[in-house]
Amino acid sequence: MTAARIVVAGSLNADLTIYCDRLPLPGETLHGHGFAVNPGGKSANQAVAAARLGGDVTLLGAVGQDPNGDMLVASTGGAGVDVSHVRRVTEPTGVAVISVEDSGENSIIISAGANGTLSPAAMVPALFTGAGVVCLCLEVPLDTVQAAAQAGHDTGATVLLNLSPYAPVPDALALLTDVLLVNAHEGSQFLGGFQLPVSDSPAIAWHDVLEEFARHGLSQVLLTLGAHGSVVLDSTNFAEPVVRIAPTKVDAVDTTGAGDAFTGAVAARLAAGDTLAEAARYASVAAALAATKRGTQAAYPSVAQVAAQL
Ligand code: ADP
Repeated sequence: MTAARIVVAGSLNADLTIYCDRLPLPGETLHGHGFAVNPGGKSANQAVAAARLGGDVTLLGAVGQDPNGDMLVASTGGAGVDVSHVRRVTEPTGVAVISVEDSGENSIIISAGANGTLSPAAMVPALFTGAGVVCLCLEVPLDTVQAAAQAGHDTGATVLLNLSPYAPVPDALALLTDVLLVNAHEGSQFLGGFQLPVSDSPAIAWHDVLEEFARHGLSQVLLTLGAHGSVVLDSTNFAEPVVRIAPTKVDAVDTTGAGDAFTGAVAARLAAGDTLAEAARYASVAAALAATKRGTQAAYPSVAQVAAQL
């Protein structure tokens, strides 16, 4: 079976990362011990992850006419993503200013820049025609996400929404979302502070969570739990509505962007015809491998690397 096309619509950011012993307090200046500029942005990361895993990916987004924009077009294009619809605009490329302390704890501030110019009008329905999967996140304006979800829905694609960074989901967007992808923090916020079960809870506890999501209009949810793996909550699957996926054991050195690797891998495998649970199992391996190297896009595995670990 030929894999369906994937449209990723959303953000591209330059990640400006400084490494330090500890994060500074308000008003404090510290010496860091390393600095790196890397391609990032949730949608760019997800597009690269999906393309590395064999996906036929088109990225819709916007960057500035600056060196960061050049870097992002080169990194996503170099991974095999179709970047012919990434616009070059007069606003500067979006940036994420990231501080990482030696413990691994980080703090991040994002400046949307060009991402903020990505308008609903850029979500031209013809660009979505024939797509099997549409992959969205919340680093671009919400009305643009809504327009992309509508275009994806109208063409019959499976619409994935990665609820990050967290924002309340309007009912109209929830209605168009086929699969919600959230980490534990975002999942709990989405459910209005609902206390999620601890990671090793029995399936019965996860059934309550599944029902909570269904009450909020979401019948298929992938909940990621970092080093504790993930859970598939699928109220459309009567035989097996809850599937708990154990983590792949790895020596994690940098989990930044693991969630994006997971989302991109799910997109690639759904486009290839996997069920939701099959796609999540595969993504769990891909995301764990991504955590074994520093950085985001540069750490994302190939089909062969995942196959060696399966
Ligand atoms: P986010 O990056 O969005 O916060 P998570 O931290 O939940 O997302 O990680 C996403 C997925 O990456 C997890 O569900 C898991 O499959 C994988 N992962 C993350 N950290 C580890 C780890 N230390 N060991 C193995 N797998 C991991």
